[in-house]
Amino acid sequence: MNQTVVTSQPVVREKEEVVVNDNHWVIQAEDLTKVYKMGEVEVHALRGVSFQIAKGEVVAIMGPSGSGKTTLMNIIGCLDQPSEGEYLLDGEQVSNLKDDQLASIRNRKVGFVFQSFNLLPRASALANVEMPMRYAGVRQNLREKAQQSLELVGLGDRIDHRPNELSGGQQQRVAIARALVNDPAIILADEPTGNLDTQAGDEIMSLLLTLNREKGTTLVIVTHDPEIAEQARRIIHIRDGLIDNHM
Ligand code: ADP
Ligand code: MG
Repeated sequence: MNQTVVTSQPVVREKEEVVVNDNHWVIQAEDLTKVYKMGEVEVHALRGVSFQIAKGEVVAIMGPSGSGKTTLMNIIGCLDQPSEGEYLLDGEQVSNLKDDQLASIRNRKVGFVFQSFNLLPRASALANVEMPMRYAGVRQNLREKAQQSLELVGLGDRIDHRPNELSGGQQQRVAIARALVNDPAIILADEPTGNLDTQAGDEIMSLLLTLNREKGTTLVIVTHDPEIAEQARRIIHIRDGLIDNHM
């Protein structure tokens, strides 16, 4: 087995070198670019981004508005493809997949948590959490699995509530239960506390970090909030579509 000595991108903050196997990586991104074509105009949203994330890591992505964070999250989450570059998710080559293959790997390997929760408004918490299992073709014990996932986020007594019958923090917990239910390789959270008050935001962060500790789920969080970023073991700064390690 190849061994990689990681010095430039430490897996943990400690000073000693960290030795890991190649298959230890859940994300391997090499020279990713993304160009959006708007008629005659090209927007270079990512201009050559390379990094790796190990299984079980908590990584914060920070950067000013318009720097390319959501573009990067969409590529990491297999919602979109890079214009150029290589991307492996959990060892699987993603960069040249067709749309249906991309959807399949996304359903199996990625859980999403969005700033605006993105729950189906007319569906119960339980039905919202069942949804990714339906997309992934899971046929058995949907109800039981969704219920377990809701219990894990502390909402076992709210499974029949619709989103408008829940607080913002509770809605985000439903979204986290939904993100977890297919046991993904990675959870991507784009400004997960952005629509919450401080207390609810703190509770959501500590829930995400507890899930990372107890289940080992890899966590990538986009945030503007330095206090939240500090809770991650590593921060990737993005500026003008490039990683900026000098901040
Ligand atoms: P951030 O999430 O850091 O605010 P984004 O990734 O959303 O940044 O955007 C990066 C750049 O790409 C911005 O200049 C934005 O206007 C542009 N952009 C994002 N999405 C699209 C799109 N679908 N079409 C065209 N331009 C886009
Ligand atoms: Mg964004």
